[in-house]
Amino acid sequence: MAYEEPIRDYDELVENCTCAFCGCNCDDLTYLIKDGHVVGVRHACRLGASKVMEDMDQRLLVPMIRNDEGNLVETDWDTALDKAAELIAGAVRPVFYGWSETSIETMKHGIKLGELVGAVLDNQATICHGPSLQAVQNAGYPVNTLGEVKNRADMIVYSGNNAMNSHPRHMGRYSAFPRGYFRKRGRFDRTIVTMDPRYTDTAKMSDIWVGFEQNGDYEFYNAMRAVLRGKKLKKDVISGIPKEDIEELVEAMKTTQYGSLFFGLGLTHTLSKQRSIDIAINLIQDLNKFTKWNLVPMRGHFNVNGFNIFMAFEMGFPYGVDFSRGYPRYMNGETNTIDLLTREEPDVFMVIAADPGAHFPGGANRHLTNIPVIQIDIHWGPSTELADIVLPGSFIGVEAAGTSYRMDGVPIYMKKAIDKPETCRDDEWIVRELHERVQKIKGEKIASK
Ligand code: SF4
Repeated sequence: MAYEEPIRDYDELVENCTCAFCGCNCDDLTYLIKDGHVVGVRHACRLGASKVMEDMDQRLLVPMIRNDEGNLVETDWDTALDKAAELIAGAVRPVFYGWSETSIETMKHGIKLGELVGAVLDNQATICHGPSLQAVQNAGYPVNTLGEVKNRADMIVYSGNNAMNSHPRHMGRYSAFPRGYFRKRGRFDRTIVTMDPRYTDTAKMSDIWVGFEQNGDYEFYNAMRAVLRGKKLKKDVISGIPKEDIEELVEAMKTTQYGSLFFGLGLTHTLSKQRSIDIAINLIQDLNKFTKWNLVPMRGHFNVNGFNIFMAFEMGFPYGVDFSRGYPRYMNGETNTIDLLTREEPDVFMVIAADPGAHFPGGANRHLTNIPVIQIDIHWGPSTELADIVLPGSFIGVEAAGTSYRMDGVPIYMKKAIDKPETCRDDEWIVRELHERVQKIKGEKIASK
């Protein structure tokens, strides 16, 4: 890798900033500021630093409306907000999707708006850890904080995720390497296990790699539970792993002092879906009869967990919450964004801090080309190409303060380091304005009846 000169040309340092990329929410970053821009980031991994460093080429800077020729043209805030409010107020089946890269404070206004117009509020869990959330509802949630892992864990299992690539500071800051209160020698006091069909970068950093067969995780976890309960395995090889290796691993897990299992989409999205997580949770509960074990889902976006926690706290359901009957309902397969779009139900779609244009299946995106799409975001992306109204927001944790929830459910306050571009507005302000304008339209309609 080429040597990069450290940045020395800056006006000020802003310390203890929180990274707005992955669910590790590293809150020890230092931003180097020059002329009101972030020109360097210290302590972040490459993923975090590249996001925090402004990419002004792609930045959405002004409100835009698509004209009759199909081009997005600049407009003023009042016109864009009025047009968006008009569409939302007149919708029969509006869907507000995204939220995982904005603040809890913004979501608060989103719920108010959703309740007012009977919308469906959904986030990226619908295409990522949704099955994990269902499993938690089925089987319980033996979660621990990353601080407990750092200070206590002497055995850490990564199952179906490649933390070294997806959450690059996870092992260094929270799990394998840091010295903790009861783990003074850091990495030397811990055993790291990776359970994954692929020999990933995380597996390379581990003491044990369990490379079971693709989609063999349910059977493998089942075998571990059977061994833990004192049963003799009838097959010699389970999911590609010799039974002696399974017995040895279970013995190590059972005799450790404090264990933590981190699972990712490689476990959540195998063929058994939420049942794979059910059985992982059951395994943790079984292990707790012998010693202390917990588990944590490796959440992707920095506030994807925040939306699920906030919605569950406020409305009783974590995602895919439907207000169309005037009270919150939640039915997987019915009230999730992809299902609604493929059934061609929504007539207005608002996307905030997400990019369905890049991530949704073609059938779902096809319907987005037929209905009005309102986008609130900071960067131009495939969803901008689908949008009819674009409202440029601000960058939480850099240009605006706000609250987020880390993958372990710990709330983190993300402070503001620089001013947003003059022509942009805070996400919270935009959604509150939409709520007030829709409320006014609805009020006027009722008054004129
Ligand atoms: S590990 Fe995640 S939160 Fe931490 S600096 Fe990297 S991208 Fe940001």
